[in-house]
Amino acid sequence: SLELNDVGKAYGAVPVLDGVSLAMEGREFVAFLGPSGSGKSTLLRIIAGLETADRGEVWLEGRRIDMLPPGERGVAMVFQHYALYPHMTVFENMAFGLRNAGVLREEIAARVGEAARVLEIESQLEKKPGQLSGGQRQRVAIGRAIVKQPRLFLLDEPLSNLDAALRMRTRVELAQLRQRVDAAVIMVTHDQAEAMTLADRIVVMADRRIQQVGTPMDIYARPANSFVARFVGSPA
Ligand code: ATP
Ligand code: MG
Repeated sequence: SLELNDVGKAYGAVPVLDGVSLAMEGREFVAFLGPSGSGKSTLLRIIAGLETADRGEVWLEGRRIDMLPPGERGVAMVFQHYALYPHMTVFENMAFGLRNAGVLREEIAARVGEAARVLEIESQLEKKPGQLSGGQRQRVAIGRAIVKQPRLFLLDEPLSNLDAALRMRTRVELAQLRQRVDAAVIMVTHDQAEAMTLADRIVVMADRRIQQVGTPMDIYARPANSFVARFVGSPA
């Protein structure tokens, strides 16, 4: 379970997050929706440890993690543009973080093999990212997160570079993946349908704050304010 307590962040004089609090269940899938610039990526980067908050606390499964280095948080992030290492093979890309963490060679091979099997990229392991399709690259990026066996996945618009058909297929794959991993998921998306179909709960962000948290049905049927209503296109 993830808990955010009053997280705040400014870049210089410009506030970006202003008192964000949220509690998530251990295996919950939460989708973040919100306009561009509302602080979604910044919040994910703070949780992952790639950015420091000015105030507030981040707890994961009873452990305060906001002071820990990124590698010790039990969190894995998938970036919008995948951020694969172009000079490394797919296998090396997926193994890299584990090597750095001192995981044994056989264990690395086993984890990468298993993730590659689940994601159906076994035949791509010796290729470089440049030789892959967008959808395959996207799965490598997800695989790289899976092998870390995190307690929490952070997905920052993981499907936004894909064409409509591939997006649909990958959406199904993500839904299936969820059944297999014992972890919580936060996914940022611009796609309301994606959020509605995949998520247990939706968080709507705007103006540096969480505007509403609820099930897809709640958000749609009972939007907390007119902004949420307009944003999710509910009839209210
Ligand atoms: P999008 O939907 O476009 O990805 P977002 O909700 O992810 O937007 P963030 O990337 O978190 O938004 O950015 C929130 C605000 O913080 C924006 O106004 C952005 O310009 C600002 N910002 C983000 N990173 C930095 C930085 N490193 N330095 C200064 N300002 C930043
Ligand atoms: Mg963003």
